[in-house]
Amino acid sequence: MAVHSTVRGAALGGCRLWHYADSREAVRDALRLSRAMTFKSAVAGLPLGGGKGVIMAPDPASPVRRGLRADVLRDFGDAVQSLDGAYMTAEDVGTSARDMETIAASTKHVTGLSRKRGGSGDPSPWTALGVETAIRVSCERVFGSPSLKGRTIVLAGLGHVGHRLAVGCAKGGAKLLVTDIDRDKRELARDLGARWIEPDTALTAAADVFAPCALGGVLDHESAGLVGAPIVAGAANNQLANDAVAEVLAARDVLWAPDFVANAGGIINISVELEPAGYDPRRARVLVRGIGDTLRRILDDAHASRTTPLAAAMSLARERLAGGGASDL
Ligand code: NAD
Repeated sequence: MAVHSTVRGAALGGCRLWHYADSREAVRDALRLSRAMTFKSAVAGLPLGGGKGVIMAPDPASPVRRGLRADVLRDFGDAVQSLDGAYMTAEDVGTSARDMETIAASTKHVTGLSRKRGGSGDPSPWTALGVETAIRVSCERVFGSPSLKGRTIVLAGLGHVGHRLAVGCAKGGAKLLVTDIDRDKRELARDLGARWIEPDTALTAAADVFAPCALGGVLDHESAGLVGAPIVAGAANNQLANDAVAEVLAARDVLWAPDFVANAGGIINISVELEPAGYDPRRARVLVRGIGDTLRRILDDAHASRTTPLAAAMSLARERLAGGGASDL
């Protein structure tokens, strides 16, 4: 578990259950993700710090056995509880609202519980709404219109967020090319009226938008030079292998919507759960749509100061963190 910052309030970040080659890789992931959560909350203007929980799943091929899963989640809950509110957990890759209920048996510092339990439920649809908003703003910049009608969108990763995003984009009139390493998801593609492509062709496919919605690190110095769309905007955290990749994309005139800006919908929704008046989905919708204005501002700043959207977004985050008392994050 990694807490990157608490300067603006408790560190909030999901609990990821994933297979890692070794514990060093898991720790690295937790540290990188918790840092991204700090920037995500700061850019979104939320009074929250950044943290992340990671649980190492034993075997990539088989799901964690049911009884063992509950034990592991309760242990995780004990660890969260021991931080006494400095870190609050939620869903992430590999965990669900139901898992949050199991964790809640050991700690009260858990968000994203089901609506029945007084929480705001699965954050994924809200993340998808925010990413769709970011895609529209990116289209507005590149093509002069936010409309998705007739736009070709490549969507990699038909999971909780990717599937919802695909539904939204299809409703908006986009032509979808979709993929997932889980071939059972081909059925979802059929239901969406989308064309299925192979995972290793998604990045290079000729399209208007590439939406990475699986895991991070898809864009490194080499792959950034091969992106087949003029826009990259998706849900995946940590899409860039390192910050310098943002310059490779900008040099090729590829508009990259910073991931921690585009995918903040889920955490914005959860932040409403923590407001004194309690959870209100209408307020959540307005705030999540606000991602559009935040991204417009970042793209304007990047244009004006001849820098990348990543640099402009980090600068906005640092400005807000400094306002909250942090100087060197
Ligand atoms: P998920 O586990 O439900 O879905 C991920 C999907 O990607 C799975 O279907 C998986 O099979 C697929 N996948 C994995 N590797 C792939 C590859 N190389 N090519 C194609 N498909 C691949 O996860 P999710 O909750 O939908 O999250 C997706 C991404 O968005 C993650 O990076 C997550 O950190 C990020 N994110 C999620 C939320 C949220 O609200 N769930 C919020 C912010 C960011």
